[in-house]
Amino acid sequence: MPYDITTAHMSPGPREAWTSIKRGFGCKCPACGTGAMFGRYLKVKPVCETCGEELFHEQAHDFPPYITITIVAHIVLMGVVLAEQHGDWPMWVHMAIWPALTVILAMALMQPVKGAVVGYQWARRMHGFGGDDEIILAKSQGAKTKDRTT
Ligand SMILES: [Zn+2]
Repeated sequence: MPYDITTAHMSPGPREAWTSIKRGFGCKCPACGTGAMFGRYLKVKPVCETCGEELFHEQAHDFPPYITITIVAHIVLMGVVLAEQHGDWPMWVHMAIWPALTVILAMALMQPVKGAVVGYQWARRMHGFGGDDEIILAKSQGAKTKDRTT
């Protein structure tokens, strides 16, 4: 009996990347857009509670922090440069504002950015998000399927 990982919950058909990224940025399931993606701060739920889409295939790893660091660095450095050019703030004000703003922005952006990355992975059928189409494509290309009986 050939090994088959398909389930009834995998969504068929084309997947629009920007829609999935926007849904993920809103911390919603990339498939339905209504179910919550995260169970805890950065812990993706294994399955969407609304539509049943399997979300445990995500492999965002360190990519969301890289994106977040890049965004936060641009915002904070722009603020520092503008404050230096147009303001005459004492050093203690700089020391109070910029580190705090950096931490707040990083904490606020990390979850939506991870959601967007997972949404993109889902839209591009990466890491097992492919479901039925991935298996059909592999079979059409002559790939051997694993057999559980051997
Ligand atoms: Zn869903």
